[in-house]
Amino acid sequence: MSEFDFDLFVIGGGSGGVRAARIAATHGAKVGLAEEYRYGGTCVIRGCVPKKLFVYASRFSEEFEDAEGFGWHVGERSFSWRQLIAAKDKEITRLEGIYRRNLDNTGVTCFDSRAEFVDDHTLRLTATGETVTAKYILVATGGAANLDPDVPGIEHAITSNEAFHLEELPESVMVVGGGYIAVEFAGIFNGLGVKTQLMYRRDMILNGFDMDLREAVQEEVAKKGVEIITDDVPVRIVRRPDGRLDVTSRQGRTCVVDQIMYAIGRRPNTEGLGTDAAGIILKPNGAIAVDAASRTNVEHIYAVGDVTDRVALTPVAIREGHAVADTLFGNNPWTVDHSLIATAVFSQPELGTVGLTQDQALELTPNLDIYKAKFRPMKHTLSGRDEKMLMKVIVNADDDRVLGVHLMGPDAGELAQVLGICLQMGATKADFDRTVAVHPTAAEELVTMR
Ligand code: FAD
Ligand code: NDP
Repeated sequence: MSEFDFDLFVIGGGSGGVRAARIAATHGAKVGLAEEYRYGGTCVIRGCVPKKLFVYASRFSEEFEDAEGFGWHVGERSFSWRQLIAAKDKEITRLEGIYRRNLDNTGVTCFDSRAEFVDDHTLRLTATGETVTAKYILVATGGAANLDPDVPGIEHAITSNEAFHLEELPESVMVVGGGYIAVEFAGIFNGLGVKTQLMYRRDMILNGFDMDLREAVQEEVAKKGVEIITDDVPVRIVRRPDGRLDVTSRQGRTCVVDQIMYAIGRRPNTEGLGTDAAGIILKPNGAIAVDAASRTNVEHIYAVGDVTDRVALTPVAIREGHAVADTLFGNNPWTVDHSLIATAVFSQPELGTVGLTQDQALELTPNLDIYKAKFRPMKHTLSGRDEKMLMKVIVNADDDRVLGVHLMGPDAGELAQVLGICLQMGATKADFDRTVAVHPTAAEELVTMR
């Protein structure tokens, strides 16, 4: 008999926690998992999945317009926000059920409760007050959206959480921030016909991405009708008698909008978790400090996903969780390589990127060959839409290795996934060049750039 109730107890039923729990259970471990809200976590319930469904919904407006260049005459169009929300909610509930059933089917004991540390081997389940003990504990509590508490009237602002459940589609919205969520939601609202402003504190959105990509996407997003306000932030929000919002900015702008949505980053979910009681060291921003194996300073406590503030992406959390389970119970220790992660921004147009930006590559070597192609995708020769596609390949001239690829345009995310494999394999520019093109595609540009 073990001295503990469980071999592994997982706090959080999101991307990282569910994967770790299921893999550990299939390795024969006795696993418990606590989820305080809904199984599937941020990604399934209020992140990647509903967001992508909204992106699909918002793209139809352009598709209808583009169709006319190909001889289609699309009649009067109307859009029902309520219908979209209902369809989305149904799909999310279906997915949540699958997550929950998969846990049950692998023999994981689920507790519909918040869990908090009592000590380094003991957790309190707040729904019932009972305590459970575990030999190993995995913290996979994710993160939560930030609001700016210094802005008077911030209580009138929403985050992406609420955007998924608005009763009505607003006529106008201001999105604050310039990262993934802000840019994606600006595209969603704009595509659905909402008058959209994007207010960002720097001069160019998507800080940290390749500069050419940033410039190109900022131009295209603006062309589609999003009003991008740079070098500015809201300083006051006031609810007017008619229910709309007066937003005053640092630069003295006043804007009247129906909704203001903040997307200014997310904070790790460690508040009230009792990490002190377990002796877990946090980083200054509240994230759990871990080593390459996702182990905290407490030998038998691990943490994965957004709560560790490494790379806040679902596939990363999943791999980290998988690695912990294999390491502890599968007799197969491995760690996640965070260095070459392909990613997409589901902006409009979409971005896909893998590897180093030009600025990062320059830190490695001054000898770079840069290949760039900016062109009008074939579809738009007939649609007449003024939209460009961008492809940029960064090559180390010393050894011909491709260091980074940055794409803007339709299906850029799909392409980034495949390019991720190429870069993982150490592809050189010569490898790209000797690959025969697929014609007519936009991606053939990648193998014909000289
Ligand atoms: P989560 O999935 O957040 O899971 C944590 C779980 O823990 C939650 O279910 C929470 O309820 C639970 N919990 C927290 N505290 C406790 C506690 N004390 N006790 C019990 N349960 C607790 N990533 C992508 O790769 N692609 C995308 O397109 C993408 N889009 C996104 C869009 C939005 C709007 C957002 C917000 C995020 C998006 N992400 C995307 C990021 C992705 O959702 C996260 O990186 C991922 O969900 C992190 O997984 P996790 O397991 O660390 O945490
Ligand atoms: P990001 O970190 O991507 O962006 C935050 C943005 O808010 C930045 O533009 C930042 O500016 C700005 N900002 C930060 N603090 C303030 C402030 N006090 N006032 C005004 N602006 C501020 O966070 P998101 O919330 O967009 O998304 C969180 C994470 O979720 C992402 O980083 C990503 O890892 C993940 N995600 C992934 C998606 C995908 O894979 N497609 C989609 C959505 C989310 P600055 O640049 O100056 O710091």
